[in-house]
Amino acid sequence: MSLQIIPFESGINTSYILRDQGAVMVDGAPFKKASSFIGLLESHGIKPGEIKLIVLTHGDFDHVGGARKIKELTGAKIAIHKNDSENLEQGIFHWPEGASPWGKLSRFLFKPFIAKLGRFPAAKADIILDDTGLTLKGYGIRGKIVHTPGHTPGSVSVLLETGEAFIGCLAHNRLPFVLRPSLPIYAKDLDLLKKSWKVVIDQGANTIYPGHGKPFPLEKIRKYLN
Ligand SMILES: [Zn+2]
Ligand SMILES: [Zn+2]
Repeated sequence: MSLQIIPFESGINTSYILRDQGAVMVDGAPFKKASSFIGLLESHGIKPGEIKLIVLTHGDFDHVGGARKIKELTGAKIAIHKNDSENLEQGIFHWPEGASPWGKLSRFLFKPFIAKLGRFPAAKADIILDDTGLTLKGYGIRGKIVHTPGHTPGSVSVLLETGEAFIGCLAHNRLPFVLRPSLPIYAKDLDLLKKSWKVVIDQGANTIYPGHGKPFPLEKIRKYLN
């Protein structure tokens, strides 16, 4: 079977189902109806139980808020980096600092909405990742999880041998954040985030699949990294 990449759009966020010899999911965005998720799987001929792992790119509510529901629907294990696991397991949202003028302003403007939206059902992690990451070979995916901190301390990326990189919020590529592929407008540590981009590039990434917005070629982000 050749690799399938299936985006799961959920309001503001995109999670991805990766299927090759096995299937894993990158991120678990919050969603209201189970039928929207199950229907997507059905339309691609995937049985829920085929998904064995949910890799959470970081602990923000818009990436983990649906993890518990997806776990219930699929039986998949949840993997998250140790530095962000508390957010998931206690259902708390630590909003990263504004990393651009719009990031700072929007944080202020969005605050009333986030107070409500940012609440999500906590979930237990099955696999706590450390800085050495994890190969996905055992899950039938030719790739690995790599620690790429900066947006949050526990941010990770899924890098495939064929160059696709699922990077969560290492970049943003949609409104209301940005107009084009850019560094994220929120980041705990922007310098560290740029170092993480170097890791992604050194591992041979060529196509970037962000948590917010459409995929884009790596070249579009390089200009921000100097
Ligand atoms: Zn985030
Ligand atoms: Zn996000």
